[in-house]
This record gives sequence, structure tokens and C-alpha cells, in this order.
Amino acid sequence: MALNLIMMGPPGAGKGTQAELLAKRQGIPKVSTGDILREAVKMGTPLGLQAKAIMDRGELVGDDVMVGIVRERLDRADARFGFVLDGFPRTVAQAAALDAIMTGRDPLIVIDIAVPEAELVRRLASRRVCGSCGENAEGEAAALPTCQRCGGPLKQRADDDEAVVLERLKVYHRKTEPLIDYYRARPTFRSVDGAQPLEAVAEALTAAVEGIASGNRTEGALR
Ligand code: AMP
Repeated sequence: MALNLIMMGPPGAGKGTQAELLAKRQGIPKVSTGDILREAVKMGTPLGLQAKAIMDRGELVGDDVMVGIVRERLDRADARFGFVLDGFPRTVAQAAALDAIMTGRDPLIVIDIAVPEAELVRRLASRRVCGSCGENAEGEAAALPTCQRCGGPLKQRADDDEAVVLERLKVYHRKTEPLIDYYRARPTFRSVDGAQPLEAVAEALTAAVEGIASGNRTEGALR
């Protein structure tokens, strides 16, 4: 069965890092809408030009645009055996559109990474990102001048600026947190404690995903 995963959680919960680890381990693509938008901004495409100001304010790009991007991406051959969605859906409208896109495919597995607010603010303030390869640097690695993966220069993401962080958290509570209630009743929903060290979160996450996937195999489709 295909592992069709959604990684949920507030900004700074470690979704991107965990999505990357899980995607590598399972051999499926990570689909990060934030990365797709940042790439479009860098390339100066019409989407990038439209999205940049919205992202710089910490607000959300329109649902129709985002749903179109994700529909096209999940239709590609490499997503047929599964994917890890990072940063999508972010609104109930996006979640409903995703359910429609998933018709006839294996059920969505939804993992919420829960982290207390004070910890999120602390993490986002210290987070750095590589200007060359885009790798996130957190904790001790963020205090170094260069990226540990490629040696590129580390810098702060424009939307990790304090005022923008507060706006992103506000937008998360207003528009994205209601998604937990949207998914909670599904047998394929799990919440994982994201305040633990990275490796412990990865372990809990893998256990949750494998538990759901093996349950699906033995019980038949949980659709
Ligand atoms: P992220 O890297 O996931 O934190 O995304 C960075 C920014 O891209 C967000 O603050 C939004 O402005 C925009 N963005 C990413 N994904 C979405 C989405 N699913 N819906 C709307 N805006 C998004």
C-alpha cells in the first residue's frame, strides 16, 4: 500500500526535518509547499512574484493556487507509491480539496507534531537556513557560520523575523489548527510529542506510521 502522509504542526515544530527523514527512509518524495514557493520566488516565476509579498508578511497564499500546485505534484509518477506532504494542507478548504484529490488512492495518514508555543518561538528565533542548499540548521548547527552539509553561508529566513514569526503563529492558530479537529476522528490520525530531541521524535513518528500502515494491511482498507 502507498504511504500517503501528511506532516502537520505549527511553524517551528520540525515538520520539514522530520518529513525529509521519513521520506528518505521510506523512499518516497517529500512535497513541501513552502519549498516549492521559495523556489518559485528564487526563479522569479509569476507564482513566485505573486507569493513573495504574502510570504514575507507571514500570511497564506490562496487556496486555489496551493491546491493546483499540490494536485499537479501528486499526479506525477514518483508520488504513486506514496509521499510526505509538508506544509499542506493549511486550511480546512485545502484539506477538503486534498480529500477529493485522494479519491481512489490509499488513505491519508496524518501525523501532528505537537510543540508548546514558547519552545516554537525560541526555535524559530535561532533557526538558520543555508543560502546554497536550503538545509535548515537548528540548535548548535545554527550557531555556525556555514552549512554542515554543503559549506554554504547560513542566514535567517526572511519570515523567521520576530514580528513575522508572531504573525505566522497567529495564522496557524486561526486557520491551520482547526485541521486537527478535521482529521482527529480518523483511524489514521496520530499526534506525536515534538518537544523531544529530534531523534526521539523521528522514532515516535516512524512507530506511529508503521503502526497505522500495518493495521491497514491486516484490517483491509480503512477508508
Ligand atoms: P513553510 O516553509 O511551510 O513554513 O511555508 C512558508 C510560507 O509559504 C508560509 O508562511 C506561507 O506564506 C506559504 N505557504 C506554504 N504552504 C502553504 C499552503 N499550503 N497554503 C498557503 N500558503 C502556504
